[in-house]
Amino acid sequence: MTNAEFINDESSQAKLQRQQMVEYQIRDRGIKDERVLAAMSKVPRHQFVDSSYRDLAYGDRPLPIGYNQTISQPYIVAYMTEAAKIDPEDKVLEIGTGCGYQAAILGEIAQKVYSIELIPQLAQKARQTLSQLGYDNIEVKTGDGYHGWIEHAPYDAIIVTAAPEYIPQNSLDQLALNAKMVIPVGTWHQEILVLTKTKDEIVEERTIPVCFVPMRRKLN
Ligand code: SAH
Repeated sequence: MTNAEFINDESSQAKLQRQQMVEYQIRDRGIKDERVLAAMSKVPRHQFVDSSYRDLAYGDRPLPIGYNQTISQPYIVAYMTEAAKIDPEDKVLEIGTGCGYQAAILGEIAQKVYSIELIPQLAQKARQTLSQLGYDNIEVKTGDGYHGWIEHAPYDAIIVTAAPEYIPQNSLDQLALNAKMVIPVGTWHQEILVLTKTKDEIVEERTIPVCFVPMRRKLN
């Protein structure tokens, strides 16, 4: 087998694994949004993890990405993306870039994605992976997500992929009217909350239990 054939062979295997991930872990569990399913079928999740974890990239579980952080289980990525109700022309904020996988999923279905990561090395690596894969509609910055990203506000959706104890008010202020924030909140017992900003109030819907890494304060 030539080198090129080997690479092709490997990528068709990844494609098959991805298709099975979408059918059995995501569609079978009730995710219906075709754009989310298409994005999950397309983004090469194995490219976002260290080579030693590539074989596990399409498994039904989170994986380590270094610095004590994790890439979320595929189903949770799909669940949060569907819950955010994103339209093709939307501008989306993500807090907690990690390896950049969730950002890539968002990049497939939104017009523009801004993503904030506290750990500079992870932000840099995510930027590199996303640019190698050709995502030129995603901007990653190193910073503290508790402040949000005021320059590009308001956002048509905000997805937070680290768990704070309380809802961060600054980010909520940066949400557009009728837009949704999807956020895991809690310490040991966390739940994904779907918050919708209406004219008069923030409507809160409590959804599934989850286990995310904590959203931390910037260390000085
Ligand atoms: N969405 C990611 C998973 C992220 S894990 C992915 O697809 O890989 C959570 C990430 O949130 C970690 O990388 C962690 O460093 C980051 N994080 C924690 N607290 C943060 C904060 N205050 N601001 C921005 N990022 C934060």
